[in-house]
Amino acid sequence: MKKGKFIVISGPSGVGKGTICKKIISDLKLEYSVSMTTRQKRDGEIDGINYYFTTKEDFEKRIKNDEFIEYAIYNDNYYGTLKKEVIDKINMGKNIICEIEVQGAKQIKKLFPEALLIFIMPPSIEELRNRLINRHTNDLEDVERRIKIAKEENKYKDIYDYIVINDDLEKATNKVKEIIANK
Ligand code: 5GP
Repeated sequence: MKKGKFIVISGPSGVGKGTICKKIISDLKLEYSVSMTTRQKRDGEIDGINYYFTTKEDFEKRIKNDEFIEYAIYNDNYYGTLKKEVIDKINMGKNIICEIEVQGAKQIKKLFPEALLIFIMPPSIEELRNRLINRHTNDLEDVERRIKIAKEENKYKDIYDYIVINDDLEKATNKVKEIIANK
């Protein structure tokens, strides 16, 4: 059976990758890989849909049990992609998309060289800061921490197959769709 595509989307927090992913998942009938994290659930998030929320102890137990394809520490919390969300599904021919940060993407490229890596960039750091502030889900200290991380993440962009600038949501979404469809 033909294997499914493995699509990895990264980009700084607040760049709009969640919105882009939602749209392309429904338009291209992709399956979303739900990550596991130890960060606090935000208002409106649902366990098992947005993330599997868990404790640090449980996450570390799963690392020892080799349950993750990749994991990383981001802003003092663990985030990881579970094997069960990806491997069997790809082998069954399903197209999987995951939304992860750069250290995880680097690990995936090593393990799955055929994966398609797309990096979404903001038009500028100032614009990213405005979007994070307007999102109201992060306090200002957290916004500045995420900006600092975004500057670091920028250094990894060479590992990606494609870079898409999100200055217009619809155009950026269409560009990502086109890249995936042509893979
Ligand atoms: P947030 O706290 O804003 O939901 O996510 C913070 C960062 O963690 C984002 O860049 C997001 O893409 C990334 N992330 C989410 N899930 C995973 C995962 O399973 N692995 C890795 N490495 N990063 C993840």
